[in-house]
Amino acid sequence: MIELDKNEKINCEYLIIGSGAGGSVASKYLTDCGKDVLLIEEGGHSETIKLDTFSKSFLNSWRNSGVTPVISKSNFAFGEGMCLGGGTSVNGGLVWRTPEIILKEWNKTLNTNKFSSNNLSKYFIEIEKNLGLNLSQSLNTPENKESLKLLEMGEKKLLKVVKIPNSINSSEEKNKLTLGQLSNSKNSILQKYIISSKKKGLRVFTKCVAKKLITKDNEINSVEVITNNEKKIIYAKNVILACGATQTPMLLKNSFGNNYLKSKIQNHLNLRIGVKFTENMQSHNGTLFTRQLQEYLDDGILIMPTSFNKSNFFSSLVKMSNDELSLIEREINNFSSFIIQLQSFNKINLNNYFNQTILSYNIHELDIIKLRKYFSIFCSMLFEFGAELIFLPFKKNFKINKKDNLVYFFEKNLVPKNLEMVSVHGMSSAKMGIKKENDKVFNLQGCSFDFKNLFCLDSSILPSSTIESPQGTIMAVASQILEENFN
Ligand SMILES: Cc1cc2nc3c(=O)[nH]c(=O)nc-3n(C[C@H](O)[C@H](O)[C@H](O)COP(=O)(O)OP(=O)(O)OC[C@H]3O[C@@H](n4cnc5c(N)ncnc54)[C@H](O)[C@@H]3O)c2cc1C
Repeated sequence: MIELDKNEKINCEYLIIGSGAGGSVASKYLTDCGKDVLLIEEGGHSETIKLDTFSKSFLNSWRNSGVTPVISKSNFAFGEGMCLGGGTSVNGGLVWRTPEIILKEWNKTLNTNKFSSNNLSKYFIEIEKNLGLNLSQSLNTPENKESLKLLEMGEKKLLKVVKIPNSINSSEEKNKLTLGQLSNSKNSILQKYIISSKKKGLRVFTKCVAKKLITKDNEINSVEVITNNEKKIIYAKNVILACGATQTPMLLKNSFGNNYLKSKIQNHLNLRIGVKFTENMQSHNGTLFTRQLQEYLDDGILIMPTSFNKSNFFSSLVKMSNDELSLIEREINNFSSFIIQLQSFNKINLNNYFNQTILSYNIHELDIIKLRKYFSIFCSMLFEFGAELIFLPFKKNFKINKKDNLVYFFEKNLVPKNLEMVSVHGMSSAKMGIKKENDKVFNLQGCSFDFKNLFCLDSSILPSSTIESPQGTIMAVASQILEENFN
C-alpha cells in the first residue's frame, strides 16, 4: 500500500475513512465513476492471514485483538475487524438480503418507500454477482452433519430451515474459526471491491487513522490523521465515514464533542451451545454450516450451527475439571456447536472517555424471557434428534441432559448474571433520520444535517439492527446512498 511522504500535501476529491462493508462499496463505486478517491484504513493489510486462529496476523486483524469487553452483569464481549476490508475480512462470508419484517419497519418509521425489497433488489443482485454468492449449496457434504440435523428437524417438525447464502469459495479451510471464515477462503470484498479498484486508480493508505474532522464554513475542510506516529492533514472535497458501528460515532464525538451524538449500538447477541450427540458428528471435518433455522425470525431469533474448532470449544469449557475435559476430548467426534442469535432489545451504550471507547450493556428482561423460551424449544428438539448432553453458555450449571426439566432449568439458570454472550454485529449507532435529533445526525440519503459534504454509509447508519447478519444490508444501503448522492 502507498506510504505517505513526510512533506506531501494530501488532496483528494473523495476521502473514505474505513474499508469495511460500507467503505469498500464506496471505494469501488466512486472509482468506477472515475472519481479521485483516497481510502484510509486504521488497520493493516492482512490478506495473508495465517490459518492458525491465534496467529499474530489474525489477532492483529481485530480491534483489541478480537475482544472488546463490555461492562455488563453478564460475560459479554464485542468483536469487530480492524484491517483492510474491516469486518468483511474476518467474518463468515454470509451475505443475506434484509428480512422483509425489517424493511417494513424502516419504511414505516421513516415514512418512506426507499427500503422496499423491490427498490433494494438491484443492489443485492449486483453484490451477489460481485461476491460470486453460492446459493446452490453444494456444500451439503456428509461431514456437515450439524447442518443436516437442522434440515432433518425442519422436515420432521415442519419448521422453516433455509440454505445459507455464502461467498465461500473453498472447502479446504474447514471450520477453522468460531464465528468467521478466513479471508482467503471466500470471495472477499477486499479482492473484489478494494484491490480490483486500485487498478482503476483507488489510492489506499493502511495504518492511517482519522482522528478529527476539521470544519470550515459548514463543510468538512480536512481530516487530521495519524500515520507512522505522525500527524497529517488530508484535504478532501467530500468525506465519507465508514469506520463501523463503534468508531464512526467515536470520530464524530472526537470532532464535535460528546454531546454531538447520543450513540447507542443495536446488536445481535450470540449464545453458543455445545452438543454431544450419540453418533459421530465429525464436525471439525465439515465446512462452514449450510443451513439456518428461520422459523422464529419474526421474533428476532435465528438458530444455526457454528464452526467447530477444538481449541475454541475447550476454551469455552475451562470451567470444567480436568477429568471432565479429558472425557470430552476422548469423545470429541460426537460434539457439535450451535448458536442462538437474538436481536437484542436493549442497546450497547457507547461512551467516549478521553478518546477511549467504553461499552456498557445490560440485557433486557424481555430478552431473557425470549431466550428461556427458545433455549427450551431448541434444546428439547436437540434431545429428540440424538443429543445426549448439552453445554450451555452459562457461568454455572451449564450442563443439561435428557432428564432435566428444561422449562424449570432455564427459569432458574438463564439469568443475566449467569450468561456468556458475544456480539459481532453492531449497528445503528449513528442512524439516519428524517430530521436532526440527538441520536440522528444523517438524513435518509446518508448526508450530514450539518455539513453538506459529509456522508456516512456503514453499519452505524442503518435505521435498526437487521435480525439477519448485516453485511449484505450494509452494502445494499451503501450502494443506494452512493447512487442517490454521486450518480
Ligand atoms: C467474526 C465476525 C463474523 C461475522 N460474520 C458475518 C457474516 O457471516 N455475515 C454478515 O453479514 N456479517 C458478519 N459479521 C458482521 C460484519 O462483518 C459487519 O457488520 C460489517 O463488516 C460492518 O461493516 P462496516 O462497514 O460498518 O464496518 P467494519 O467492517 O467494521 O469496517 C470499519 C473499518 O474502519 C476502520 N476504522 C475505524 N476507525 C477508523 C479511523 N478513525 N480511521 C481509519 N479507519 C478506521 C476499522 O479498522 C475497520 O477496518 C461478522 C463480524 C465478525 C467480527
